[in-house]
Amino acid sequence: MFIDGDWIDAEDRYTLLNPATEEVVATAAKGTRDHADQAVAAAKRTFESGVWRDLAPGARAAVLDAVADAVERRGAELTRLGTLEGGFPLKLSNAFNELMPVANIRYFADLLRGYQFERPGPLVGPPLVGGVIRREPIGVCAAIIPWNFPLPLAVWKVIPALATGNSVVLKTDEKTPIGALELAKELQAAGVPDGVFNVVTGDGQDVGAHLVAHPDVRKVSFTGSTSVGKQIVRDASSNLKKVTLELGGKGANIVLDDADVRLAVDGSIWAFMMHSGQACESGTRLLLPSSLHDEFVARLVERLQSQVLGDPLQLTTDVGPLINNTQRERVLGYIETAKQQGAKVVLGGGVPAGEQFAKGFWVEPTVLTDVTNDMTVACEEVFGPVLSVIRYDSIDEAVKIANDTEYGLAAGVWGRDLSRAIEVGRRLEAGSVWINDWHLANSAYPFGGYKQSGQGRELGAGAFDEYTEQKSLQIGLEPKLENRAYALVLSAPPVP
Ligand code: NAD
Repeated sequence: MFIDGDWIDAEDRYTLLNPATEEVVATAAKGTRDHADQAVAAAKRTFESGVWRDLAPGARAAVLDAVADAVERRGAELTRLGTLEGGFPLKLSNAFNELMPVANIRYFADLLRGYQFERPGPLVGPPLVGGVIRREPIGVCAAIIPWNFPLPLAVWKVIPALATGNSVVLKTDEKTPIGALELAKELQAAGVPDGVFNVVTGDGQDVGAHLVAHPDVRKVSFTGSTSVGKQIVRDASSNLKKVTLELGGKGANIVLDDADVRLAVDGSIWAFMMHSGQACESGTRLLLPSSLHDEFVARLVERLQSQVLGDPLQLTTDVGPLINNTQRERVLGYIETAKQQGAKVVLGGGVPAGEQFAKGFWVEPTVLTDVTNDMTVACEEVFGPVLSVIRYDSIDEAVKIANDTEYGLAAGVWGRDLSRAIEVGRRLEAGSVWINDWHLANSAYPFGGYKQSGQGRELGAGAFDEYTEQKSLQIGLEPKLENRAYALVLSAPPVP
């Protein structure tokens, strides 16, 4: 762990397995509540000292630039580490462990250079008042991330929090601490003062919950499951912390009847198969018009059959394993339940055959047809390479099905007539709606969920607002003593 600028070990250690081979990749410290307390104390001390928050924004931005340069320089190594700990195929790992973090950090550094921490307030009255409206850091922020995109999700939280002058304690997921620990090295090397940024590892229900309830933590930013998100809201209420939540999803992917089928088939595969479906914003419910249904499914199955499953370290591999055996069993369980409830398996449905899949946590790309929106597989987040195909007969019906979910993270529409596709997109209850594409997480566009997919947004020009308090600093300017606010109140006639 990285606490107060030092590398700290723990009595117990986690064993991290390569999800593709089940070989031991590394062991990692298993932090305790005491470690979390030490990290919070360091963060609190450095926040109060002003060693980081009082730097000029331009100076903090220069540190972020240096971090981006370092991640870029070490891109190949971070890509490989991401593959080893998370099972990402190498070509995907590069996007998530180098290109995206670098782009995000540079975006935040630029945003910081232009961010208005203080702006003049309006002159109002009578009585005449002027002033400034300020944005100030909140204090000690706890960031808690899941295992599926450790480095990018750490960046989405940690960089805006640090940019705005906060001190941070990051808790990584038990299964994938490596990316965040590498980020800690680079933040320290770039000049973030010791104690301002800390990483603790440890179990969620123990160390994570302890951080969320900690009286000295003022803000929690969490990415993970909706059920844990609800627990976090309860635990954070102890001292009414500010909370940002990025939770699960059940993305509806609507193909309109004028869609370019070749484009939409490949795009729909990208939408549900990326990282073997272990992404909150995946397009897991494919809504097809009856007129296109059979042709579309046939082409989808054919294209999926050419996806290469296998060693994630090979550049030719398209599909990697799931993170662990628990996750694989869960996914296989969802497929069984779907069959019992009347869905038809038209591709996959089990563990791939062959010696090379005897070890590792594999599930075949799976397509289910005849799914209805009330089936378990259409309601709950599967988090595996499983697509539910649902028929519709009118756009109104498609929109109704798409919105008939407690989630609201991402959705998409495919169609040649852009204005019609956009019109459908406007009607979808989701924080991100993609037209003729998927998984677009551009730094400049806010990302987050409607309904039970979360609260608050990451990325975009508003990202820093989530890590700052607003202050109104008002100055009484009324020249006449008798017109000052207090004089007016005191001299008011008594209320009968
Ligand atoms: P999870 O909720 O089980 O765990 C996420 C993190 O929370 C881990 O670090 C875990 O240790 C910690 N944690 C667990 N219980 C805790 C508690 N009581 N208090 C504090 N921390 C606790 O999630 P998971 O299953 O590991 O990750 C997958 C989930 O994350 C999926 O639901 C997925 O949709 C979601 N996710 C959402 C986004 C998004 O941006 N909306 C992005 C990625 C993943």
